[in-house]
Parts: sequence; C-alpha cells; structure tokens
Amino acid sequence: MIKLEKPQLEVSEVVDVLINSMRNSNNRKESIKKYRNELIEFENKYDELGSKQQLYILNSNDLNKNEEKKNDLIYLYEEKLVKSKEGRKYYNQIKANTKFDKCPYCGHERVETLDHYLPKSNYPIFSITPLNLIPACFNCNHNKLDEDINRYDEMIIHPYYDDFSKIEWLKAEVIPNEEPSFFFSVAKTEKLITEDYNRLVHHFEVFKLAELYSANASREFQNKKKYFKEKLLFYGNEEFIKDIKSEIESRKEKETNTWEIAMLEAIINSQWLLEEYLKS
Ligand SMILES: [Zn+2]
Repeated sequence: MIKLEKPQLEVSEVVDVLINSMRNSNNRKESIKKYRNELIEFENKYDELGSKQQLYILNSNDLNKNEEKKNDLIYLYEEKLVKSKEGRKYYNQIKANTKFDKCPYCGHERVETLDHYLPKSNYPIFSITPLNLIPACFNCNHNKLDEDINRYDEMIIHPYYDDFSKIEWLKAEVIPNEEPSFFFSVAKTEKLITEDYNRLVHHFEVFKLAELYSANASREFQNKKKYFKEKLLFYGNEEFIKDIKSEIESRKEKETNTWEIAMLEAIINSQWLLEEYLKS
C-alpha cells in the first residue's frame, strides 16, 4: 500500500557477484552459471508484466518442473543472497529501499526482512530477482502464504508497480461500546473498479489489516480519550471537528489510506462518540 521506487539493481549484477563468491569446488557453481541468461530473460518478462499488472499470467507450473534447478535457485537466495557477505550487501540495499522504514504491505510495522512477491517455492526463477524482493515486516512476511497467483484479484498490492494512493479506499467506523473500537474495511468508492476493489479486499485479508488497524486505533483512542473529552468540552463540536479535519489534511499531504486518517475520520463521523461517549 505504500508505493516504493523499484530497486536500482539488476539480477545480472546480483547473480554474477553471487557466482563469483562461490568456490570452484562447489558443485552447484557450474549449473547456476547456466541459469544466468534465463534469470535475465525472466527479469525482463517480470518487469513487462508487472508494469501492466499482469504478473498473474506467469504460470508457476511451467516454472517449477525441474527440481534440481529449483533447489539451486533457492540455494542461491537462502545461502548466498541472505548469508554470504557479498550477497548481504544487496539484501540490505533492497531492504533499505523504504519510506520511513515502514513495511509497504501493511504501512505500519517496521521493515525487518525481504519477502518474495511471487513465492520462491512456486516461482524459483525469481528467487533473487530484485523486482520480486519486497522489504517487509515479519508479520506480513509470515501472513502471506506461498500460493499460486492465477487471477488479477489474487495479486496482493505490488509496492513497485501498483499505486492506490490517489484513491481514498480505507475507511473505519466506530463501534459503540464501553470502550469504543474501530472497524476497518475497504470502501467501495466510485473511483475503484470492481477488480481493484476485490484486489484490495484480498490484500486486506491476507495481511489481516482489519485486526492490525483496529488494535492500533483502539489503543490510540484510549490514549487520547482524556484529551478529546477536554477539548470537546472546552471548544464545542464545531471547533473540535474543524481541528481534527485540519490534522487529517496535514496527514494527507504525506500519506493516504493510513489507519490514523481513517480513525480520525471515523471519530468525527460518529454521532454517538461526539454526542454521548465523549460527553459522559
Ligand atoms: Zn507489514
């Protein structure tokens, strides 16, 4: 959900450095050399399809037939890109390509790892392709299952190719209770075509964003409850709403569709909160 620039790094550079770091006695070295051209060819294909939001066209069955090759390519990622000194430099470079160190999938937690957008177990040819490596938090990396992607709306939002920041699609509602909670969902706005709505809902479900945002918003609200009550009592509804709107506008200059913005909008849209809860 946070749009990122593509990593300024090509698979040809990565694979060459990784191959060079391997000992000649390593019996995988010769076979891995043979995949070099294919890695480059598939990187081009990835970029072409990614730019058209068509990565779902890639069929994992076609890419996954040769078990030995698959093991070699996964080895290249797990043992070389992640663990070797030479590979770690690239790993860290891709991981550092974020905004405010935030995970682009949830837009909230800190980046701790790299995630394979197309899972390496099903799409091994992209195991070390920088365009397929996404800086992510542990939770998002864990929540995303290694599944095949066969349809447009089965694709989660790709931070390098998708940009939904111009559309306001995240909404929240206050749930009246002793301690108010917040219900987050994808808003079906006119600007959002059905396929994109379905895709965002899928993304939302995969990363359990409703739960994550709701927990954060409820905590934040509790922390600010006293402040909100006093402000509302002192200034009255109109000024209170005006003030929150100005905070929303200020936040929107930098980011859209954050749980903070949706929460603030939910607060000023809740009659119950403004007329009853905060005045009791
Ligand atoms: Zn995350």
